[in-house]
Amino acid sequence: MRFLAQDQLEAFLGHLAGQGRVVAPVKGADGVVLFRPWEPGMAVELDVLLAKQAPKDYVFRQSETYLRFGYQMEGVAAAGAEVTAATDRAHAVLKVEPQNDAPAQVIFGLRPCDARGFVQMDNVFGGYGGFYFDPYYNAKREATTLVAVTCRDPRSTCFCTAVGGNPAGTEGADVLMTQVEGGLTAEAFTEKGEELLAFVGFSEAGQAQTLYAETVKEQAVARVDVPFEIEGVRENLRANIEDPGWHDLCMRCISCGTCTYVCPNCYCFNITDEIVEGKGERMRTWDNCFNPLYTLETSGHNPREQKSNRFRNRFSHKFWYYPEKYDSLLCSGCGRCITHCPTRIDIREVLRFMGSPRSAAAPAGEEA
Ligand code: SF4
Ligand code: SF4
Repeated sequence: MRFLAQDQLEAFLGHLAGQGRVVAPVKGADGVVLFRPWEPGMAVELDVLLAKQAPKDYVFRQSETYLRFGYQMEGVAAAGAEVTAATDRAHAVLKVEPQNDAPAQVIFGLRPCDARGFVQMDNVFGGYGGFYFDPYYNAKREATTLVAVTCRDPRSTCFCTAVGGNPAGTEGADVLMTQVEGGLTAEAFTEKGEELLAFVGFSEAGQAQTLYAETVKEQAVARVDVPFEIEGVRENLRANIEDPGWHDLCMRCISCGTCTYVCPNCYCFNITDEIVEGKGERMRTWDNCFNPLYTLETSGHNPREQKSNRFRNRFSHKFWYYPEKYDSLLCSGCGRCITHCPTRIDIREVLRFMGSPRSAAAPAGEEA
């Protein structure tokens, strides 16, 4: 275990910034803590447990142009020939330029649930089981080093241990740092992490610092609430698919999508082309499954036209469909969706209710 004195933190970040982009939780003038590109002189906020949004935006961009295209005229129509839209089209050649900007970067100060969120997205974008390999996500992911910090003081809305995580978890993290008296301890778990800890400001952690860090971790685990038993949730969600409880639970939901945007692992996106005077961009932009148009088909049919169906999808995807495909959950228990839902919908309550046996549920196998 290594140790970095508090007064060396700025130098460490400055050293990293000399090699690439550093992203860290920083409090803005409005008091909101967000992951922002760090520059010397900026104070990193580690005492506020969670930035408002997970740092996924730096790997899976909220809005990203992934190709530019344009039509260029080639050849000239015969002299005197009538120029029509059809002749124009005959001479227009489509030029396409792929874009894939993936700067080397370190995301510093994310929490173990955020690092785990990247692993959960890796399954989808990273070719797990050969389904799909996304070059845009993966280029950024490979160029990124994750330096997580132990959650010394978990919130009442944290439930990472109920979903297989840990406030000092290392899944997805290249380095885990823990705040101790006088600074931070650091442990590396990958080659990328080892490289970071080669910075001269690190020293070997003393026995007292190591013991302190281990105590912080143990106490943090003990403080995280376990609001439901995960065993059986998948089967019960399946059995309860037609249960009227979904309708009752969704009444407060206003389909704003906030819960999906703040989440470290929600990964749905939409693709649009924007064309102005023959020049265009193909963009992908975060989408969310609460959006009524999300599943609208070209035929006009919408299999999730009702809000209750969209609401049901979010929880079933995270705790039933995704686990069936990837043998993992699509939730790391960060609690952001609880904190930021404007109508106070609580995923823990939904899972306690719909993830349990329900007497009114349709027998398993009768679902639509
Ligand atoms: S944040 Fe709350 S109100 Fe908004 S879509 Fe999610 S559950 Fe519905
Ligand atoms: S579903 Fe909610 S609690 Fe789970 S990872 Fe996403 S934001 Fe966090």
